[in-house]
Amino acid sequence: MPIVSVSGLSPATDLVDRTLRALGRGVQALVQSAVPLARCSTLRVGGPAARFVSVSDGALLADLLCVAQGSSVRLLLLGGGSNVCPADAGFDGLVIQNRCGRIEIGDAVCVETGAALGRLFQQAASAGRSGLEFAAGIPGSVGGALVSNAGAYRSCIGDLLADLEIAEAGRVRRVGPEWLQLGYRSSRLRGGSEQSAHLLRAWLRLGLGDPAGLFRAGRGYQEQRLSKQPWLPSAGSFFKNVNDAALAARVPDLPPRFVEAGVIPAGYLSAACGCKGLRVGGAQVSPRHGNFIVNTGGATASDVRTLADMVRSRVFDAMGVRLEEEALYVGDWPGSGAGS
Ligand SMILES: Cc1cc2nc3c(=O)[nH]c(=O)nc-3n(C[C@H](O)[C@H](O)[C@H](O)COP(=O)(O)OP(=O)(O)OC[C@H]3O[C@@H](n4cnc5c(N)ncnc54)[C@H](O)[C@@H]3O)c2cc1C
Repeated sequence: MPIVSVSGLSPATDLVDRTLRALGRGVQALVQSAVPLARCSTLRVGGPAARFVSVSDGALLADLLCVAQGSSVRLLLLGGGSNVCPADAGFDGLVIQNRCGRIEIGDAVCVETGAALGRLFQQAASAGRSGLEFAAGIPGSVGGALVSNAGAYRSCIGDLLADLEIAEAGRVRRVGPEWLQLGYRSSRLRGGSEQSAHLLRAWLRLGLGDPAGLFRAGRGYQEQRLSKQPWLPSAGSFFKNVNDAALAARVPDLPPRFVEAGVIPAGYLSAACGCKGLRVGGAQVSPRHGNFIVNTGGATASDVRTLADMVRSRVFDAMGVRLEEEALYVGDWPGSGAGS
């Protein structure tokens, strides 16, 4: 039987309510209960967030994060929800949707982390600032992009990062890009739910370019995406590509450009192992792209995860390659220790 406090709420939810009451500033009026995370994830899966608040004021977001960090509130910060697979059980704590999206274009570009990456590209390109063309068509926020060092077409957001403002252990401070420990689709914050620190603002170092040319480049990348990617709800590429030159040289029939780059695309491995079209419930490995798990309608989060496990096993059994998820499992998954 779940543990409940005298108020009838779980201890985690009770702590959220007490903390928000203590914060004041009218926050409680903005907070909703039992909001389905399926509404906030591009995969359209996930159960209820016990408490949910959408925040578009940067100072309020900083206060909320600092107070929650300082009082051990269970907290999940989401941007666009385009890189997550939230659990069917939802999240027994506070989910904050980051809608803080101010963009200032000066010598450096300063952006609040809730800004949509696509909007940032558009504003930067209009001002003749280059470097973000690869991001045209990548959904989600700047914060989510930094956490996974999002990228495409041999560029990534980490290449542009100059500085960060973070909330950590209840206080706001400015740190250099090395703090984030960026790697290929990785950073120190890629823990899924309940990270110890959160990103508030980023400063990016962009180049100069002709707006028409920048928009042309962005459109070109977007057209390539549209021609390859499925239209159904997804979290984008589900698995990371495999960077292993020795393995790339051994994989049969790998196109030469990948052998030269020492990269084996996860979609290639999935397709080669016959995973395209595989289904579990409403989840399917897209017949168009072997690295996209799509929600064909009515998929649960556990359908998605079971299917991902099947792909991983097939690829390991046939090729000896361990695929690693690029999408993050967030929320209260069985065995995650949540709710205890
Ligand atoms: C159709 C499609 C195409 C895609 N194409 C690409 C692509 O080409 N390249 C690529 O790299 N990705 C791609 N993605 C994946 C995804 O869009 C990116 O990873 C995106 O940057 C995630 O941002 P988000 O705001 O949606 O993150 P979310 O899904 O909201 O969050 C992801 C993680 O980051 C954490 N987080 C979010 N914001 C913050 C913050 N401010 N501070 C601390 N933690 C935070 C969350 O808690 C979560 O753990 C694609 C996805 C889709 C659906």
